[in-house]
Amino acid sequence: MLDHLASTVSDSDFNWQAADAAHHLHPFSDHKSLHQGRVRIITSAEGVYLTDDVGNRILDGMAGLWCVAIGYGRQELVDAAAAQMKTLPFYNTFFKTATRPVISLAERLTAMAPGDLNHAFFACSGSEAVDTALRMARTFWITKGQPSKRVIIGREFGYHGSTTLGAAAGGMVDMHRQGAALPDFAHVMPPYWYGYGGQMSPEEFGLFAARQVEDKIREIGAENVAAFIGEPIQGAGGVIIPPETYWPEIQRICRAHDILLIADEVICGFGRTGRMFGSETFGITPDLMTLAKGITSGYIPLSAVLVGDRVADVLINDTGEFYHGFTYSGHPVACAVALANLDILESEHLAARAEASGIKLRAKLIAALGDQPIIGEIRGTGLIGAIELTADRRTRRFFEKRGRVGALCRDHCFSNNLVMRAVRDTMVFSPPLTITDAEMDDLVDRATTAIMATQADIRSEIL
Ligand code: PMP
Repeated sequence: MLDHLASTVSDSDFNWQAADAAHHLHPFSDHKSLHQGRVRIITSAEGVYLTDDVGNRILDGMAGLWCVAIGYGRQELVDAAAAQMKTLPFYNTFFKTATRPVISLAERLTAMAPGDLNHAFFACSGSEAVDTALRMARTFWITKGQPSKRVIIGREFGYHGSTTLGAAAGGMVDMHRQGAALPDFAHVMPPYWYGYGGQMSPEEFGLFAARQVEDKIREIGAENVAAFIGEPIQGAGGVIIPPETYWPEIQRICRAHDILLIADEVICGFGRTGRMFGSETFGITPDLMTLAKGITSGYIPLSAVLVGDRVADVLINDTGEFYHGFTYSGHPVACAVALANLDILESEHLAARAEASGIKLRAKLIAALGDQPIIGEIRGTGLIGAIELTADRRTRRFFEKRGRVGALCRDHCFSNNLVMRAVRDTMVFSPPLTITDAEMDDLVDRATTAIMATQADIRSEIL
C-alpha cells in the first residue's frame, strides 16, 4: 500500500509509477511486462501532439484510440460540456423522459446517416453499442416469429468490443480463449488481400472473401442466421481495407438470404475514411450501424446505434418493451459535446479534408519508404492506413515469428515520440483529421526513422 494519495502531494513528489503499478490494472495489457518498464504518463495535449510528464512532445499518429477526430484542445467542446453541466448535468431517458440534447442529437445523426437509418439508441461505449445492435437484431427476429434466427456471423481479426457479446462477435481468438467464446457466433475470413489474396487480383479476392459469408450461411442455414456484422475497414485487426468488390457483394448476399447487415462504424464513422461514414465510402446501406469514438472525438464517452426503418418498425410497433438500456443512455452532457463536435466536423469539412490529407500522407510515406526491402505495402483510405512490414516484399511473406518485428518497430516509434500501433507486423495509423501538411511531414520523418531502425535491427540479426 502506498502511504500517500496523489492529491496530497505535489506532482513531482509523488511516485506515479509505483502507484500505477500498485493499484491500476490496464486494459489489454500484460501487467508483468508492463511493471518491468515505465508507464508513459500523458499530462496534456494540443492539436495532434501529446505531452508527457517528463516533457516529451509526442505526435499522436493514432488520434488516441482512433477517436480524437478534431484534435486535442478544442474549447468549443469544453464550453458545450460546461454549459450543459450547469443547466442539467444528468437526467436519464428511461420512463417516458428525454432531454433536449439527446433529442437534438438523435435528429442530427439520423439526418446525416445514409439510407433509412432514421432512429438512434444511445449508450456509452462502442462495445455497448455493438451489444445493443446484436440484441436488437435477435429481438427483431424473435418478434417476427423466427426465433431460430440467432447466429451472428463476424470475421477473423474483426473487433467489436470487449463486452462478451462484442468479443464473441469479433474474431480475436485470444479474447475467445479468455471466456468470450459464445454459442451462436460464427466467423469467416477477412477481406485481407495482402495476407490471403495469393495470386488473385484484389477484385477477384474481394468476391472470393465475400462468398465465404454465403458459404457459411448455407452451412448454418439462413433460417438460423440473424445478422452479419463487419467494420467497413477492420481497424484493430490491422487496417484491413476490403477490395471494392467486397461490400456490395456482402450486401447482395445478406439481402438474398434475408440476413440483417450491421456496419460497425465505431472507427470508420465521422469522416475517418474520407466520407462521413464508411458505409458511404463502400456504397452500402446497412440495417443497423454502430457509432462511438469520433461521435465526441473521445472528449467524453458516448456511442449510438442507428436503426433502419425495417428493424425500427418492428421494435417500435410489435416488440412491446425492449428490455435493454443503460443509466447513461443519452447522457445530456455527452450529447451536448457530440453536437459541438459535429459542428466542427461539418463546418471544417473534416471528412473531405481526411480524404485529401490521406492521399498526401500515403504519397509522402511511399516517397520516403516505398523502396525499402522491409516494406510490403503502404495502404490507406482517408486518414486510416497501414504499413505492412515483410520478410519478402515480392512474395508478401510474413516474418516467421509474427508480431516480433511489429513490436520492435512500435518501440522505435515510441522512442521517436511517435504513437503508431503494431498489429502483428503491420504498423497502423489514424491521426486526427485536422493534421496539417507540416505535421504529416513530421509523422513521416518519425515513422521513417523508426522503420529504418527496425530494418537495421533485422539486418544486424538482433532478431
Ligand atoms: N467496434 C469497433 C470497430 C472498435 O474499433 C471498437 C474499439 N476499438 C469497439 C467496437 C469497442 O469500442 P469501446 O472500446 O468504446 O467499447
